[in-house]
Amino acid sequence: MKTTGFIKKIDELGRIVIPKDIRKALGVNNLEYIEFYLDGDRVVIKKSGNCCCFCGSDTDLTEFREKFICGRCLDELSGENVKTENADL
Ligand SMILES: [Zn+2]
Repeated sequence: MKTTGFIKKIDELGRIVIPKDIRKALGVNNLEYIEFYLDGDRVVIKKSGNCCCFCGSDTDLTEFREKFICGRCLDELSGENVKTENADL
């Protein structure tokens, strides 16, 4: 693993600033999404592709309140498929 030499202090709200050189290397800009992973005792930060926050699909996406939802999940939320699914029970 390449070390960057950056040491940052987490503020009282749990926030840190990702150094500009790291953001540039990841190809992420301000207001874009990133994902966090735990790898043992390490936190891995990865550029996030846009995907549905419920099922992970990356097709037919609509953005709502800074999150993405796919058409299928949106239909389920709006109740179009609820009757069909409940009829099977
Ligand atoms: Zn979905």
